[in-house]
Amino acid sequence: MTRFNTQLVHGLPVQDNNTGAVNPPIYNSTTYAFEKVDAMPRYDYARSGNPTREFLEQQIAQLEEGVRGFAFASGLAAIHAVLSIFKPGDRIVVGDNIYGGSYSQFHEFFTRWGLSFTAVNTQDLTALTEAVQGDPENGIEPAKAVYFETITNPLLKVNDVRGIAAVAHRFGALAIVDNTFVTPYLQKPLQLGADVVIHSATKYLAGHSDVNAGLVVVSSEDVANRIYFAQNRLGGVLPPAECDAVRRGIQTLALRMDRQQENALAVARYLLVHPLVKRVNYPGLPGAGDQRLAAKGLKGAGGVLSFEVVPGVDPADVLNNLHVFRLAVSLGAVESLAELPCRMTHFELPREERLKVGITDELVRLSIGIEDEADLIEDLGQAFDIAFERYVARHADADVFSQLTSGVLA
Ligand code: PLP
Repeated sequence: MTRFNTQLVHGLPVQDNNTGAVNPPIYNSTTYAFEKVDAMPRYDYARSGNPTREFLEQQIAQLEEGVRGFAFASGLAAIHAVLSIFKPGDRIVVGDNIYGGSYSQFHEFFTRWGLSFTAVNTQDLTALTEAVQGDPENGIEPAKAVYFETITNPLLKVNDVRGIAAVAHRFGALAIVDNTFVTPYLQKPLQLGADVVIHSATKYLAGHSDVNAGLVVVSSEDVANRIYFAQNRLGGVLPPAECDAVRRGIQTLALRMDRQQENALAVARYLLVHPLVKRVNYPGLPGAGDQRLAAKGLKGAGGVLSFEVVPGVDPADVLNNLHVFRLAVSLGAVESLAELPCRMTHFELPREERLKVGITDELVRLSIGIEDEADLIEDLGQAFDIAFERYVARHADADVFSQLTSGVLA
C-alpha cells in the first residue's frame, strides 16, 4: 500500500486507455452506449456516474480512508446532499461557529424542510452531551447527527473529533465533520470516529481559486447508499473538467499546505506583537497549542488565521489598503486573501449570534498563500500604518500617544 504523498499524486490508477497518458482522461460524454437492451453498462448517464468523477471520488475516499467518496458542484451542494439523508422532524446539533453559508442553508432552507437545529459549543463536551441527549420526557428526542467544523471558520477553534464522535455515537447520532480547513493531510476524521467528512474542495483541495467543488467521504456502505441517492436524485454533481481540476490540485496539496503553514505562523507571530492588533487566532502559535493540536489528532493548524484590531481602528482601513493580499472571500488557495467576516463571509449570521460566539465587527480573517512571507508581512505593515494615520486623523483632538501607551490601543 502506498503512502499519503504518493496517494496524492497518483490516486488509484485506472489504466483504462492505451495511449500511455499519465493523467486520467476527462470523459465529457453524458451518455454511454448499451451493448444490448438488457446489458446494463457500468456507466449509463453522467449524473449517475462518470469515470472522471469516479477517479476523484476514489482519490478522496482513499485519502480520507473511507469506504466511498462523492463529488458535488460546490461545498454547499455537498452539505445539502448530506443533510437531505435526514427526514422532517429530525434534530441536528450544530457547532455554534460554522461557515455563514452553511448556517444559512440550515436555518433558511432545512428548517422549512422540517429539520430542527440546536447550536452548541462543540468544544464543551458536557454541553454537547446535553444537547445531543435532548429531553425525551418533554418531547425533545435525541439528535440524529452532530455537525461541526474541524477548525472553525473564522475563529479557528479546534474541535476534538474523537470526543465529539464518541458523544454522538452514545446517542446513536452520526458525527458529520466539515474538514475544509484541515484536509486529510492534517487530519483524517473518519479515523477518529466520524461517520461523514465534507469538504468545500473549492479551498485547499483544488487550491487555485479556479473551481467550485464539494466532496463527501463516508465510513459505511449504508450512509454511502443514502448519499449516492441524494447525489443522483438531487443532481448537484461536479462536471468532468472540474473533477480533473480538483484532482490536479490535490496532487500538490502537501507542498502547498507546508508552505502556507510556514507563512501563516510567520504572519501570526508578526501580528501578535503589532500594537494595532488586540488578539490573534491561530492554533499553530506555540503556546496556542501544538500539543493540544496533536492531542486532537491534528498534524498542523492550516493556513487560515484571524485577528482583531484594537478599538477605534477601522479594520476596513487595513483591508482596503492591502496590495499583495487580495480583498476577497474564500481561502486555502495559492494566493493570500483577506476579508472582514462580519460583512463578507459571515454576514448571514444575525449580529447578536455573531457577537455571542466572538465574531466581532473588528475581526479580520486572512487566508495565507504561498508567496514570500516578507512580502505578506510588509503588505500588512504598510496597511496598518495607513489605518493608524486614519485613526490619528479621526482623533485629531485626542492625545493619541498617551492613549496608545495607556493601553487603549494596546
Ligand atoms: N464549509 C466551509 C468551512 C467553508 O468555508 C465554505 C465556503 O467558504 C463552505 C463549506 C461552502 O463551500 P462552497 O463555497 O464550495 O459551496
